[in-house]
Amino acid sequence: MVDYLIIGGGLTGLLAARELRLTGAEVLLVERGELARESSWAGGGILSPLYPWRYPQAVTVLADWSRRHYVRLVADIQAESGLDSEFIQNGLLVQGSDESDQALSWAEQRDVEMLRVNAREAAELEPRLGLAVDGLWLPQIGQVRNPRLLQALIESCRQLGVQFKENCPVEELLYQDDKVTGAKTAKGDLLAKSVVVAGGAWSEQILAELDKGLGVEPVKGQMLLYKAEPGLVQRIVLSGGHYIIPRRDGHILAGSTLEYMGFDKTLTEQGRQQLQLAAEAIMPALAEVPIVNHWAGLRPGSPDGIPHIGMHSRVEGLYISVGHFRNGVAMGPASARLLVDLMLGREPIVDPTPYAWKI
Ligand SMILES: Cc1cc2nc3c(=O)[nH]c(=O)nc-3n(C[C@H](O)[C@H](O)[C@H](O)COP(=O)(O)OP(=O)(O)OC[C@H]3O[C@@H](n4cnc5c(N)ncnc54)[C@H](O)[C@@H]3O)c2cc1C
Repeated sequence: MVDYLIIGGGLTGLLAARELRLTGAEVLLVERGELARESSWAGGGILSPLYPWRYPQAVTVLADWSRRHYVRLVADIQAESGLDSEFIQNGLLVQGSDESDQALSWAEQRDVEMLRVNAREAAELEPRLGLAVDGLWLPQIGQVRNPRLLQALIESCRQLGVQFKENCPVEELLYQDDKVTGAKTAKGDLLAKSVVVAGGAWSEQILAELDKGLGVEPVKGQMLLYKAEPGLVQRIVLSGGHYIIPRRDGHILAGSTLEYMGFDKTLTEQGRQQLQLAAEAIMPALAEVPIVNHWAGLRPGSPDGIPHIGMHSRVEGLYISVGHFRNGVAMGPASARLLVDLMLGREPIVDPTPYAWKI
């Protein structure tokens, strides 16, 4: 029997596994397929909600804490794993926002640097824009390259001594009286003193009858990948709800669609066209750049995008960290830390009330 069983090998489960292992506990992470191949792999890695001022305080609080801790976290993970997550702080340029006053007053109340920019200043920040217009500039916003961060995190967990079981779907949770005792899988029962469900969009299936009103559902997002020479795009640029994200080596991600289609991850021509049109409107030069990949992921959607983090009120030892929706990477470090604070009875980094598992 291990101390902690984590169900789900996405960013949420992996960050929690690392935090728990750092306390010296015995941690086993079980993953249905391969580690880190679902939403966490598919995402863009922007370390801020898009249009952050539109989000509830509960999302902002986790994103703010995470933003302040990302530099240290990726450095620690790199020291443990020897792998680079490609964290870059290249800023977010928001084009044509007509919510500038609201956004600026939101930023003023927080520790977020946000500047109004006119069309000329926008063009200076990003010289090859199709149409430079007035907007907002958030220089502190950064990004990670999701697959790199995940590989580094998996390796860091391995080095620290987290145990993994891949290709091993959890069929149901196991209980004795009012206590969770582990999980049943096709490869046998996995016993643990405490269990964390971090199954992303599939969490409701794992929780089965315990899932009362969590409202976690899959929300498909398609992405396109261009391969240009490094430097064509400098900043993350957001316009009309679509964005382009430049990676260091010249790859440029264009995202994303928001589709309520159940567990269907099919790629569509309509999705591809939508992303291509939006990306090439932001930067017409992309029309000459080859598209080298197109994929989809299922976000763990939740009402208002507020994740559920905490313990079940009646089942001892059962915890969840689910429903991070569009911001699981941006909120990841704070979300993992809050979960582990609650599990260990430590003073939580933030007020846990908005994330509590309400039954
Ligand atoms: C197109 C797209 C763009 C995005 N862009 C951003 C962004 O720029 N910034 C940002 O912050 N967020 C972004 N996101 C959202 C972010 O990726 C998610 O919020 C986050 O990755 C959720 O992580 P997770 O670990 O909870 O879920 P997942 O990564 O989906 O992991 C859940 C894991 O649980 C496993 N699992 C499920 N059922 C079982 C079972 N029965 N037994 C064992 N294992 C199981 C799954 O196989 C999976 O590996 C984006 C998402 C998408 C799809």
